[in-house]
Amino acid sequence: MEQKIENTLKALKRNSFKARYFEDSKSVVKTLMEEINVKDKIGIGGSMTIKELGLPDALLERGNTVYFHWLESTPEGMDNARKNASTADVYLTSTNALTEKGQLVNIDGVGNRVTAMVFGPKKVYVVCGINKLVADIDGALKRIKENTYKNARRLNLKTPCAITEKCNDCDSPQRMCNVTTIIEKKPSKIDIEVMIVGESLGY
Ligand code: SF4
Repeated sequence: MEQKIENTLKALKRNSFKARYFEDSKSVVKTLMEEINVKDKIGIGGSMTIKELGLPDALLERGNTVYFHWLESTPEGMDNARKNASTADVYLTSTNALTEKGQLVNIDGVGNRVTAMVFGPKKVYVVCGINKLVADIDGALKRIKENTYKNARRLNLKTPCAITEKCNDCDSPQRMCNVTTIIEKKPSKIDIEVMIVGESLGY
């Protein structure tokens, strides 16, 4: 295992998070499908990682109730899914960046994902590809800003970064960068586990 991954796992544990390493996507999906009970209600944050892993479909197919706004077709349906997800038994998400000091750094447009990561669901699994590991907070914020344009394009938003691939701290009505959170240590009322996967996942 790379030194950077070992350091991050140790730092996460020092910060009271549970933390595990998985060689590949297949093994992390297998573990999640085994550990999540079919009776658990599942909330999912806006996450390409979770989508790429095929977890929303796999959980729905075996009978879990899944609240995931990307599966909804109306604004009302999306908002209801976000609200229900925030009090689910299990919440699945990634993090925009994970520092070697064990900090989870995220920037949200709506804020549902970052709030659910600190309070609400009973258990949060944060699945993080090695492409998201950075040295520190500065590196995390840089990484996030360098990748936001990919989400802007995916969502067909009219933000400057969608055109130029660069952030200009815009005033766009569709701005995606409205809430920045740094989870430094495990929030006291939630059980968070970070699962680092030895592959590139998400943005
Ligand atoms: S602040 Fe605006 S331009 Fe910068 S990354 Fe966010 S959405 Fe894009």
